[in-house]
Parts: sequence; structure tokens; C-alpha cells
Amino acid sequence: MSPIIVTHPLAAEALTHLRNRVTGPAEFRAMTKQLSYVLLLEATKDLPCRSVPIETPLEGTTAQVLAKELVAIAVLRAGLGMLEAAIDLLPDVSVSFAGMPRDETTAKPTEYYMKLPPLSGRRVLVLEPMLATGGTLSRTVHAIKEQGGQEILVLCVVASPEGIERLAHDHPDVQVICAAIDRELNGSFYICPGLGDMGDRLYGTFPPRE
Ligand code: URA
Repeated sequence: MSPIIVTHPLAAEALTHLRNRVTGPAEFRAMTKQLSYVLLLEATKDLPCRSVPIETPLEGTTAQVLAKELVAIAVLRAGLGMLEAAIDLLPDVSVSFAGMPRDETTAKPTEYYMKLPPLSGRRVLVLEPMLATGGTLSRTVHAIKEQGGQEILVLCVVASPEGIERLAHDHPDVQVICAAIDRELNGSFYICPGLGDMGDRLYGTFPPRE
């Protein structure tokens, strides 16, 4: 499945703030949330609805309600930056977490927390802002499928060509929605030009200055 790149101007401007090295953690969190709304709108634009009878103050009519349950899975820790937008926009969403840190030198993920609700029949939105090597996401999606997940969308802020290729190879049925596909990964598996370490920038956990 080809990745969807959102081109909404609000997403583009939010991404500019995220990329800018002078953006501090408070603004960085706000811009991540803003951009996440746009990704979430894209990920939910084709949700099925059903008609229900309601009464307006004037008369009876029929109106639409969502006919599909949603699950959001935040990949720790950077995925937490996207979660508030998901809860705002989808108040009935089931929320779950995937703990899958990558080794800084090999970029290989190790699973330490994965507790998923039943996923069959639900749309699963995986919140992982940086699709770098794709290793973490591929493992996460594998676990989601084991739990019965079939309709899986991955929401990213920035993706690398390498990560897109890996995910398309391992999980061709999964839809990626992102705000940009950047040039490449560097030798330390960071996306270039990218925005740096998403978790550090969200939560201000930079190494002390020398
Ligand atoms: N994770 C990040 O936070 N940034 C990258 O560039 C790659 C992975």
C-alpha cells in the first residue's frame, strides 16, 4: 500500500516548527498535537457510519454515528506526544501502549511492554511519530496482528524511505500516513533532515551541554 503524505497547510506549518532546532519542548508538544489532529482526520475519513433516529429541538430526523470501534496504540515513548490528539478527537477510543525501545547502536527493538485489547473488527491506529528503520514498527504490527488486528494504520510525523520500504515488505497490508518522507537515515539511524530525537524534544531530556 502506498504511503499517504498529508499536505494540509496546518500540518506543513506544524512540521516546520518541529524541524526547527530552536523550538523548545512546550511548543514542540503543541505542534506535535496539532499535526496529529491532521493525521488522525486522514486516518478516520473513511470510517463507516450508521443512521440513528434522533430528535432535534424542532422534529425527529435521522443522523449518523460511527459504526466502527477504534483502538489507538501509542509506541512508547514518543507516541505519547500524539495520544492527546487521538483522545480529543476520538473520545471513545480504546488506548493501549507498546514498549519497544531500540538499541542506540544496532537500532534493534526489544519488547518490554505490550498489552493489547481485543482488536478483531476494530480499526487500529498505531501512533509512532518517527518511522526510521521500521524495525520497531514491524515488530509492533506483528504483535497487533497476533492479537487479531486486521485494519491497521500507522500514523507518523516523519518517515524515512528505508522505513517505508521495510514496512511495505513486512506488512504490505498496513497503511502509513505521514507528514513527510525525508531523504535518508544517517549512520546512527536518525532521519535526515528529520527533527532530531522526538522523545528528547517532546520531554526535554537532552544530554547536558558540555
Ligand atoms: N527516532 C527519533 O526520535 N528520531 C529519528 O530521527 C529516528 C528515530
